[in-house]
Amino acid sequence: MSENRERQRRRRAIFAPMDPLDPEACYRALETRDGRFDGRLFVGVTSTGIYCRPICPAPTARFENCRFFASAAAAQEAGFRPCLCCRPETAPELGAWRGTSNTVARGLSLIADGALDGESASIETLAARLGVGERQLRRLFHQHLGASPITVAQTRRILFAKQLIHDTRMPMAEIAMAAGFGSVRRFNETFRQLFRRPPSALRRRAMHALPEGVTAETGVQLRLSYRPPYDWPAMRAYLLARAVDGVERVDGDIYRRTVLHEGEIGTVEVAHLPERASLAATIRFPCVQALPAIVARIRRVFDLAADVTAIGAHLAQDALLAPLIAERPGLRAPGGWDGFELAVRAVVGQQVTVEGGRQLAGQLVRLCGTPLGQRDDPALTMAFPTAAQVAAADLTRLGMPGARKSTLHALAKAALAEPQLFQPLGSVEHTVARLRTIRGIGEWTAHYIALRAVREPDAFPASDIGLLRGAGGRDGPRPSPAALHDRAESWRPWRAYAAQHLWAADAASRPERDASKRSERKRRPRTSVEGGRVLRLP
Ligand SMILES: [Zn+2]
Repeated sequence: MSENRERQRRRRAIFAPMDPLDPEACYRALETRDGRFDGRLFVGVTSTGIYCRPICPAPTARFENCRFFASAAAAQEAGFRPCLCCRPETAPELGAWRGTSNTVARGLSLIADGALDGESASIETLAARLGVGERQLRRLFHQHLGASPITVAQTRRILFAKQLIHDTRMPMAEIAMAAGFGSVRRFNETFRQLFRRPPSALRRRAMHALPEGVTAETGVQLRLSYRPPYDWPAMRAYLLARAVDGVERVDGDIYRRTVLHEGEIGTVEVAHLPERASLAATIRFPCVQALPAIVARIRRVFDLAADVTAIGAHLAQDALLAPLIAERPGLRAPGGWDGFELAVRAVVGQQVTVEGGRQLAGQLVRLCGTPLGQRDDPALTMAFPTAAQVAAADLTRLGMPGARKSTLHALAKAALAEPQLFQPLGSVEHTVARLRTIRGIGEWTAHYIALRAVREPDAFPASDIGLLRGAGGRDGPRPSPAALHDRAESWRPWRAYAAQHLWAADAASRPERDASKRSERKRRPRTSVEGGRVLRLP
């Protein structure tokens, strides 16, 4: 119990400068335009009614005129409007750093997926999905973000619209739809109220709107920022090794893939802009309403919301992890594009090499994916199969054992029966337990799916051979899964990032055998399909 408290105390200590906001410390960050606080801190200036990022190039306001907020939503809730100069909508979104509350991090990711958009959406439903009461959810949001869930959702809509106005040539009516305003009138009213001018006045002068409906062909280009450091080579290598033919492609520093969303098909292209600490995303999609969801997916895949400095500071308290974090300070935990797709990849990847898994996923795509038809890009020809397509497919010709084919079918049926199967709910234990009810999904696979698909920052497949080897170091003794599990207790709530570092250390110590995880497994007959990656937890 006291150990638990000690852990909580240490966790709080990391976030102490921000939680609660200390005005003096905040003002120092502002005076120095300290980039480390970008996305964590917003300042409202009472004399102008405007709120800024700490890096705003405008002259620093007087201390007595500054009010500090932990989120853009809190600043807007207090009546401030976004600065047109530093553009708070382009600040890195740091959902995952709010370490004292996984519920808030999960809630933010559901809101980003549109959980509070549309007529039927309510805080009650959101709270129920998160496994907490409505009042508790409001309290947690106020504690960590200084704003209610509704304000957070509204602020997201406004800031997303503002970014589209500023950065794209999309017509205003399409932007209103894309940002979830429901009607152009409401969009105009909101902007007039907040910015005291019509939305079109916010567009850069050189930007002329395109005719409506051409978004699908020309693409919407957006810049998505992150808080440095960012280990782009590691992310690129991860995506390259797993790129499924027809669906994805990595050319040089550009990642491209097909997108299937609510029956429509498009593509995305993502490039790295290190000098601007951001990614450039080009989205070509016939339906603008899907834009927020697609942007949220890109953020997840590239793990843009992680504050790896804060996470690293916490993990580096363990002597085992400290040197690994010093070596790769910008390492991220790549996410899955889609929950079902990731779960399928986890199953076809069991007991084979990374390359073998990639090939099998390609076979499955050719077997039951959706062809794109005529497109400009000859490399992107197929959309990854949906749960309905896999459930209905005859998998006889797929080159893997019958038991795993049955698991694929069971997974597809479970995903059809429960559309929110891969969304974060309750605790990581809850998520893992729910996934394990699917026939053929064991502890390892459930944790792996939780880590990559559900984006559970505390998921940790302790029985993974790569983790055990990484924890043993180059020559040290390998811990047992139970011992690793115990040690990882102090890494909470960021065990997924610790796992990423251990995997990287393991891969670096055996460059000649990237797929060593799997070949090792083959030599161990006591492993099972159920246990996935060797050695089940006791
Ligand atoms: Zn500003």
